[in-house]
Amino acid sequence: MNVLKPLGVYIHIPFCRSKCQYCDFYSIGGSRDRRLVDNYLEALAVHFKEAGALATDYIVDTVYFGGGTPSFFGADNLRRIFAELQHRFRVDKDAEITFEANPDSVTESLLKKLRAEGFNRMSLGVQSDRDDVLQKLGRPHNYEQARAAVHSARKCGFDNVSLDLMYGLPNQTAPQWKETLRHVLELKPEHISCYGLKVEEGTPLWEYKDAANLPSDEVQAEMYLDTVSILDEFGYGQYEISNFAKPGYESRHNLKYWLGEEYIGFGPAAASDFAGKRYTYVRNIETYVRGVLKQDIPILAECDAIPARERAGEYVMLRLRTTQGISPEEYEKNYLMPFEPLLETILPLEQRDLFYQKDGHWILTPKGFLVSNQIIGLLQEAQDRSEPLAKKR
Ligand code: SF4
Repeated sequence: MNVLKPLGVYIHIPFCRSKCQYCDFYSIGGSRDRRLVDNYLEALAVHFKEAGALATDYIVDTVYFGGGTPSFFGADNLRRIFAELQHRFRVDKDAEITFEANPDSVTESLLKKLRAEGFNRMSLGVQSDRDDVLQKLGRPHNYEQARAAVHSARKCGFDNVSLDLMYGLPNQTAPQWKETLRHVLELKPEHISCYGLKVEEGTPLWEYKDAANLPSDEVQAEMYLDTVSILDEFGYGQYEISNFAKPGYESRHNLKYWLGEEYIGFGPAAASDFAGKRYTYVRNIETYVRGVLKQDIPILAECDAIPARERAGEYVMLRLRTTQGISPEEYEKNYLMPFEPLLETILPLEQRDLFYQKDGHWILTPKGFLVSNQIIGLLQEAQDRSEPLAKKR
């Protein structure tokens, strides 16, 4: 009997109550037009059928409903999608099933329905404990609603709750951020993600960024290092640049992205790394629906077969986001590239407290995570200069 390969499934739900000022994810604000919703559900069902036929030797061990705002999309729609997925794919009985939620669309009725269906992890967008800041960001909820949502989730049987927070917000100071963290920790989540605000071109915030009184890079760096030490003090291990968890509660789905494991995405803007190819769908729901249902327009925005050399670059880039780091042995064995040029780059950085070594793996320190983009750039230059081991021999 063939051994089944593990697979993560991502389903994009591109509907939000309104658009936040800083958001550049693909989603439609304010719309849950019934016709569009029905067409989207139908397109997903057809797409699951097609893709499921190509994944008969896989077992789905993580499912992630992201967005957009899945909780705003509603329990009945999410249940329908999940049932369809289970019909077309083999889903492990112990799979991690996550849905993203915003506090204003979490109700006990939604939570009970999802829990009964097998959803077992909620990722809640809290962002801040200050209502004036939430309002400035265009978030459609206040902190009390976030607190109530966590309470309801517990009541409805969710024992794996993740909270998303943001730092580097307008008018925010480092002491305020520490206060926010301590306040939110009172909710006792199993998992916390803390993201620094990025001002993306094309968002409303971009237009008035200079007047937004955003903390400087130095203050943001201080906030980041405070995050790592406060969360450590409260028993949350850092396992990725922006992610922290109580032992055993690391996001199994998101780890697949960072560990270079296979996942398949559905919906507009969804990405996949499946069967040796990486591809992304168009950022437009109408095009996606039409392309899937009528097959008369393409739904792929990008599709690449990944050469081994590029995989080696990805390994370094993705693994260095995590506290598993990079292993010389794995690198040479899997990508047939010499680790030595990378080591020559790493050793001086170790002296500067940017890298440390554990169990044979090279891992970035919190200070290293702060400048990870520059470090990854240096390592990729070292990779570009090296010849594959097979050629050298
Ligand atoms: S709720 Fe999330 S996906 Fe929707 S607009 Fe806000 S940040 Fe973007």
